[in-house]
Amino acid sequence: MESEKNVWDKSFRIIAHVDMDAFFASVEVLDYPQFVGKPLVVGGESMRGVVSAASYEARSYGIGSAMPIFQAKKLCQELVIRPVRMKRYTEISRQIMRILRSYSPLVQQVSVDEAYVDLTGTELISGSPSMAARSIKKKISEKTSLTCSIGVSTSKLAAKIASDIEKPDGLTIVSPSMVKDFLESRPIGEIPGVGAKSERALFDIGVKYLGDILKLSPSLLREKFGKTGARLIKIADGDNMSPVEPWTEPKSISNEKTLRRDTKDPGIIEKNLLMLANKVARRLRKRGLAGRTVTLKLKDSDFKQITRSVTLQRGTQLARVMLKEAKALLPESIPSAGVRLIGVGLSNLEPAGHVEQISLFETGESKEEKWKRAEKAIDDILNRFGEGALGPGSLLE
Ligand SMILES: [Mg+2]
Repeated sequence: MESEKNVWDKSFRIIAHVDMDAFFASVEVLDYPQFVGKPLVVGGESMRGVVSAASYEARSYGIGSAMPIFQAKKLCQELVIRPVRMKRYTEISRQIMRILRSYSPLVQQVSVDEAYVDLTGTELISGSPSMAARSIKKKISEKTSLTCSIGVSTSKLAAKIASDIEKPDGLTIVSPSMVKDFLESRPIGEIPGVGAKSERALFDIGVKYLGDILKLSPSLLREKFGKTGARLIKIADGDNMSPVEPWTEPKSISNEKTLRRDTKDPGIIEKNLLMLANKVARRLRKRGLAGRTVTLKLKDSDFKQITRSVTLQRGTQLARVMLKEAKALLPESIPSAGVRLIGVGLSNLEPAGHVEQISLFETGESKEEKWKRAEKAIDDILNRFGEGALGPGSLLE
């Protein structure tokens, strides 16, 4: 057997992907030991909600994320259903990220329970890649009593796929000499970004494994699969150098706009507030954040500035809520010089509750769920067709 030292020479990066096991569900079991060994899901407060996370015991019943709660309950009568306690999960998440940052300054948190750590050049402190990974697992378990799975390889992509292989409590190391074969042999559906629809379409043209991509003409792939096709060619070619980008939580997210002409027209002001709230909401959703404090900023043509804030009971990521609050913050009388600049911001940020994956089986959605879905649909349109696809009035209807 080759020694680890020789396998990872200096020309390769060493990247670990750390992923907590059934995170929300594991935290519930940790805090409520009476549920140890029980099939448990974390999800919406009512039977109309969906599963955000399932314990491994629940998974053995075929229960998984995004399944409606009522359906999960049908599959398992004695299922324990716990509400989402995002605050608690965030608290533990912060402990975990702090541990990871003690191994490398290059930590990219991708969600509340998942991060990449660039371990390149840390051998003198942490030892070989497998020693470092084992040490991370031990530290996390000592500090939080929770388990994680780690994949280590030469790229983020390979590390991410590797972390999933031995879940839970797994450690999979894909060394530089193995990584090409490893990636080529992965089922195409395992590649992040390949959804069920693309997977089926790729099957249809004979792609079962990532390696099959190399047998096809690049132009055909690009034509049929656009961006995804181009990305798959790059990945299959071994071109996967995207860096680990440290990310720190923003303190606030805001957008502002200088008007083309100073105005006192409440209609124009409202239209701009809507457009700005919509932009802020999109950025929040992209990062999975919600915020409790809404701030309105106005500057008049003499550059006098007014900022006013209101703090809500619950965090929001909805443009509609921000618009309502921002409108309520407008001064009774518009400055006589007219408004020159308008800004809307959200602070007091927190991770938004579980990602809403509204199910098709859902019968009665709450109003808020409907709005969330509507705004999500708008995101999709803007992502596909660009910012100009919808005018500022479109949300009003
Ligand atoms: Mg996880």
